[in-house]
Amino acid sequence: MEITSLNLVGTKKLLSDKKASESEVVAAYSKRISEIDSKIESFLFVAENPKSENLAGELGGIPIAHKDVFDTDGMPTTAASKILENYIPPFDATSVAKLKVAGVVNLGKTNTDEFTMGASTETSAFKKTKNPWDLSRVPGGSSGGSAAAVAADLCVFATATDTGGSIRQPASFCGVTGLKPTYGRISRYGVISMASSLDTIGVISKTVTDAAIALEILAGQDSKDATSGSAPVEKYSENLRTDLKGLRIGIPKEYFIEGLDSGVEKIVREGITQLKKLGAEIVEISLPHTEFAVPTYYVVASSEISANMARFDGIRYGPTVANSEVENLVEMYFENRTRGFGDEVKRRIMLGTFALSAGYADKFYKKALQVRTLIKKDFDDAFAKIDLIAAPTAPTTAFKLGEKIDDPVQMYLADIFTAPASLAGVPAISIPAGFSENLPVGLQLIANQWEESKLLAAAQAFQNSTDFHLQKPKI
Ligand code: GLN
Repeated sequence: MEITSLNLVGTKKLLSDKKASESEVVAAYSKRISEIDSKIESFLFVAENPKSENLAGELGGIPIAHKDVFDTDGMPTTAASKILENYIPPFDATSVAKLKVAGVVNLGKTNTDEFTMGASTETSAFKKTKNPWDLSRVPGGSSGGSAAAVAADLCVFATATDTGGSIRQPASFCGVTGLKPTYGRISRYGVISMASSLDTIGVISKTVTDAAIALEILAGQDSKDATSGSAPVEKYSENLRTDLKGLRIGIPKEYFIEGLDSGVEKIVREGITQLKKLGAEIVEISLPHTEFAVPTYYVVASSEISANMARFDGIRYGPTVANSEVENLVEMYFENRTRGFGDEVKRRIMLGTFALSAGYADKFYKKALQVRTLIKKDFDDAFAKIDLIAAPTAPTTAFKLGEKIDDPVQMYLADIFTAPASLAGVPAISIPAGFSENLPVGLQLIANQWEESKLLAAAQAFQNSTDFHLQKPKI
């Protein structure tokens, strides 16, 4: 048995049974990263001599990685952008701190699309992460580094963020489990913002149980994040179940449309049959405003991005221009931002600035907020009648590197089934449901706000009765 092939529960047991020490576990991961990550390129920064600061903690000695938008005290945090190159935060994000107290070992930082803007991890200024199932394909994004690292057994689990699909879609593409909790469930303090009314923190893991354990540690209100919610944190890992009796699961007809790859559809439909076999009542539902989710998301997200990106002036970090190169401060900002930001970030700053500008704000930004309300109402109406929604996570399997990077609209359509839950702020999970032409396919389950317990219990029942999550890529 390879130490690195174990999930969180398995690694915990290995350590508590004293079958391996912390240093042996960490050494196994460090060796694997040095052997394999030159092919996958999932890490932007690999820690030297990483170790636990609390071996007796609940996750004492468990090696993990953080998406490179989580501030990590003393360790580079770049958001995969040149404008933050050389930034070493003097503090930890709340989620990083909580995991540290629990005893994890931080192996390093994983690649992402620049400031998490993208669906392939190709907008990273530093590296192109490869999909462990097929090195000519993308891992999805923006949390492609975290998903690829978990799929390739380079860490036990990884933190990630999801604004419009960035946890679920890469989890689907890489054949791993990706949990996006309710908006506000996990503190965002110390995590670099993309679009503040949508950003959520979550995890990418090997199993649903592992995600449930991580959520217990990460969830909860934080005085440092005014948007974090006060809903009680449950013992998610103890609520897991083996059947779905008594649950009504809705299948939204708007998620089975032209553009959904037929191989993906087949696997998702088989997954739904499995949910039925486990005892769930399957009912067709309608989320009528689904078709407006992608344009709504891109107007709302870009507007917020244009505001959030305004704070980066490139003066302390990144490719700062010399005083002698510019005439005045405005020119300096202009030059720094021109050099520091990549094309996708610039595109969104321009889109968002336009959508918010005088004369257009009512037509674009305000209109998008109105449609967002309708999308949220679609979910409210659905959850009045059902417990959960089951749907595809993404319309396709992993696409080729380079295939969509020059066609932003095609790239944006990768979010078609993930953006709605983001706009509604509801929790969702992607779990491995099978393979189409040897590439993983994810099944997405969506729950009502704060109902992670129900979501995880159902996802775990599915995983308990299938073995797709146990398949490993040959690298
Ligand atoms: N692909 C989406 C985008 O580019 C989602 C990104 C995210 O969730 N961070 O905006």
